[in-house]
Amino acid sequence: TARLRLDPDPTAAPLVNALADFYHVHPDQVFVIVGYDHVLSMCFLTFFNSEKPVFFPDITYSFYKVWADLYRIPYECQKLDENFKIVKEDYYKENGGVIFPNPNAPTGVEASQEMIEDILQHNQDVIVIIDEAYVDFGAETALPLLEKYDNLIVVQTFSKSRSMAGMRIGYAMASPELNDVKYSFNSYTMDQTALDLGVASINDQAYFEETLHKIIQTRERVKLRLTELGFTFRDSKSNFIFASHKSCPAEELFEKLKEKDIYVRYFKKPRIDNYLRITIGTDAEMDEFLSEVEKYLKETGRL
Ligand SMILES: *Cc1c(COP(=O)(O)O)cnc(C)c1O
Repeated sequence: TARLRLDPDPTAAPLVNALADFYHVHPDQVFVIVGYDHVLSMCFLTFFNSEKPVFFPDITYSFYKVWADLYRIPYECQKLDENFKIVKEDYYKENGGVIFPNPNAPTGVEASQEMIEDILQHNQDVIVIIDEAYVDFGAETALPLLEKYDNLIVVQTFSKSRSMAGMRIGYAMASPELNDVKYSFNSYTMDQTALDLGVASINDQAYFEETLHKIIQTRERVKLRLTELGFTFRDSKSNFIFASHKSCPAEELFEKLKEKDIYVRYFKKPRIDNYLRITIGTDAEMDEFLSEVEKYLKETGRL
């Protein structure tokens, strides 16, 4: 209202301070930006500027490739092992920076803190970005490592666990020495409404925990049911499950579900073309999904 006639605080101080309190870091270490995708894209532009290739996993968030191509940054994909885990030794080779999501997308697989620290240790001359878009759904954050490694940037978003994708709030946390981050991000001032709602979300810890708890509970219930229906999957610490059926091809099931207006993700790509990424919705949505899957598997004599 009256405040919307004025420009917002260009330093986003209320939100920066709320996040700093919440994560027990210094406000100097928090950088908020309009749109998480912007955070990542700015990080690519600012920090991945060597002639050497940036490393990220072969199965991962598809936008890394898009930005690298857009900014003409050389990159090299490192193959995940057969359990979709990162092979840390692959990241010992010379590179121009490292980025991966934890938990990974679309697999939901978590990288251990020991693995992340090992990769940081072997890459002290480049920037290592941990994309924690889904970390709140049960994975461990790399934030405590900020104290030891000034080459680490942890990026998070309000879009997933805080259910505020419409607000476009992204933020990065890094060592205060990484002032470049601030300079690159300053040009995107966050609007006043986003600032206010962001602070309100951080302050309502009870609501945040309640909704997270609901999603995690539904996820665990769906895991059990999927197993009974003949699916296998790696343990997911995210708000989706990346599952494969023992006899029904993923693409076939994807098409059948689409006919029923049930949408899961199918990636027609090597190594993952027999998997479906099943996002956790409400209990009612998941029940409908599970009952359609069961019906189809029975109809086709697979159950
Ligand atoms: C969703 C997502 C993003 C982008 O987040 P937005 O807040 O929607 O811009 C970045 N990285 C990963 C791994 C994501 O899943």
